Amino acid sequence: ATMPPLLSAIANAGRHGVLVKSAVVMEQLGATTRVAFDKTGTLTEGRPQLSTIRPLSGAGIDEQELLALAASAEDPSEHPLARAIVAAARDRHLTLRPALLFTSAPGFGITADIDGRTVQIGNPHRLLDIEALTTDRQTWQRARDAVATLEHDGETVVLVLTDNRPLGVLGLTDRLRPQARSTVAALTTRMAAPPMLLTGDNATAAARIAAETGISEVHAELLPEQKVDHVRAQTTAGHRLLLIGDGVNDAPALAAAHTGIAMGRSGADLTVATADAVIVRDDLSTIPAVIGLSRHARRLVT
Ligand code: ADP
Ligand code: MG
Repeated sequence: ATMPPLLSAIANAGRHGVLVKSAVVMEQLGATTRVAFDKTGTLTEGRPQLSTIRPLSGAGIDEQELLALAASAEDPSEHPLARAIVAAARDRHLTLRPALLFTSAPGFGITADIDGRTVQIGNPHRLLDIEALTTDRQTWQRARDAVATLEHDGETVVLVLTDNRPLGVLGLTDRLRPQARSTVAALTTRMAAPPMLLTGDNATAAARIAAETGISEVHAELLPEQKVDHVRAQTTAGHRLLLIGDGVNDAPALAAAHTGIAMGRSGADLTVATADAVIVRDDLSTIPAVIGLSRHARRLVT
């Protein structure tokens, strides 16, 4: 007996390294008219490297101590930026101190108590809002200047504060996945489903990745719920949006999209649970491939 077309398409997708959760999802994939990619861990490899350690002048801290403090506070976090900061500290054989009262906020960053001081690390554009609470204008100006300099170079920048006072900034860079550019080209032309970029990272780093991949529509500095707003806007405009993401912060947008695919190898458990399909082979070129399988199966069904 021959298998129904959608089921054999699921089997085929599995051979490509994409686990499609149902026949309904397999059929939906072919209807895709637009694609949205998350940046970190999706278009990029998700293994950023620490490239710059910059204590602020007058903050009374050196590079080693800034990194040791940041790594101690980031140790409980699973975010790729946190893993890079901790790895850099271990490479330098720095001793990490215990982090107490650790909390993380998707799109913002983390907070933890180290040696009785409250350490905050995260998105500088969100943390710079704290300035309103303090009187130390000069230190904040130095922090803003350091952030601007590193972002100008296309780095992802995180700001480190203790007790609401800026101590320094860290710069991180992440490599593009090798298939990113050809996948964007295939989606744009062959699949007629042009991709956009939705990211929580800064506008300069986002613009650089967009230029390197050939994506023309970019939305940066987004909180998880703002990613959802962009997904909904596409639906309102009559599109069938396929969203590809990897982190906990992508789970709400994956749920709102017409179809959601999680990058499984690096992806957070919640993302994998929320998604309609999971890429387990770490290869973006499987995305146009499964859309093609779905369209082929749909032609056989009707
Ligand atoms: P993306 O959408 O590109 O995957 P995220 O939403 O994961 O990015 O992160 C957005 C921003 O939030 C990061 O660029 C960083 O500034 C901040 N951030 C999130 N988690 C952390 C963390 N654990 N440590 C430092 N910064 C963080
Ligand atoms: Mg991500």
